[in-house]
Amino acid sequence: MRWALIGASRIASNHMIDAIRGQPDAQIVSVLSADPQRAESYAATHGIPHHFADLDTLLAQSDCDAVYISTTNEKHHPQAMKAIAAGKHVLCEKPLATSTTDAVEMVTQAAKRRVVFGTNHHLRNGGAHITMRDLIATGRIGKVLSVRVYHAVSLPEQLRGWRINDASAGGGVIPDITVHNVDTVRFLLGEDPVDVIAKSTTSGLGEGVEDSVMSVWTMASGTMVQSHESFTHSFARTGIEIHGTDGSIYAQNIMRQEPGGSVTLIDMRGEHEIPFDTHNMYHRALHRFTEATLGRGAPSADGIDGIKSLALALAVREAAQTGRTRTVDYSG
Ligand code: NDP
Repeated sequence: MRWALIGASRIASNHMIDAIRGQPDAQIVSVLSADPQRAESYAATHGIPHHFADLDTLLAQSDCDAVYISTTNEKHHPQAMKAIAAGKHVLCEKPLATSTTDAVEMVTQAAKRRVVFGTNHHLRNGGAHITMRDLIATGRIGKVLSVRVYHAVSLPEQLRGWRINDASAGGGVIPDITVHNVDTVRFLLGEDPVDVIAKSTTSGLGEGVEDSVMSVWTMASGTMVQSHESFTHSFARTGIEIHGTDGSIYAQNIMRQEPGGSVTLIDMRGEHEIPFDTHNMYHRALHRFTEATLGRGAPSADGIDGIKSLALALAVREAAQTGRTRTVDYSG
């Protein structure tokens, strides 16, 4: 499969170039950057044969089957729409767009054009997450009563650009991290949030966008979810607690880009450390996406998953801004 990178980004250089090249018969044929010099140097650094500064030219001249979009968030929609119109499969970074309407349009058009559309929610590919989902699905903790997700981190110095100071580029911790928590909880419980309340603030980094948020969601079954995201917590650990009628799951250090952490199950019989696979999450996402383009299965997170994580994230922001309970609008 021949890939074009739309966006000369850090996530591509740190994880996705390697993940794409890790698939059988996969090659990266071109890269797009808005800055021609950056396009050239990024291509040279990563051994990519062709580079472009204009998407129409890339799509016309670059003989690719699929594109990976990892530009800033406000560019995902227009770039995906062009790639879909050109008949390319699209793996798009989260959040899919800055509005649910745009995300729905992307996913609808991809279905019409019969190209595969995936959302790069890597966490649901993690061994810890798959194991937790299986524990829940097989009834090990009984009926799920509540979930607490803690995902407050210290945003690395090199990422303190548009994420913390550019609302028009889709900055803020809600589009950045809340979307991951939504997707994780949906994946674990197999159901969607219905409504949310939230409070957000700036606690040292955000300029015109929130850098910290806490929200509470009600799932369709009535399960309550508490979710915390921040860019400003230097010593906090990430984790998830899932509490059921017959047991609780405590997972620590598992909301990350690298595999690892721990999953502990506590029930009537005591405390059990649960083993899980520590494969690379991005490699698995690429594998599932590639298989889908060959007609085998679906991407691990598809377009609908991307729409839903965005819809809830936007409801969290609206709830925080208005101080009111928001019903999640998935329709766009
Ligand atoms: P970056 O800031 O690294 O890249 C975004 C854009 O900024 C690039 O497309 C590039 O523009 C420009 N840029 C990047 N580095 C430089 C630089 N050194 N000098 C000048 N311009 C630069 O963002 P991320 O890689 O962190 O995020 C990109 C997307 O990926 C976002 O949508 C984000 O939400 C998502 N993401 C997803 C993750 C996941 O695990 N699923 C993890 C991290 C990010 P141009 O292409 O025009 O050169």
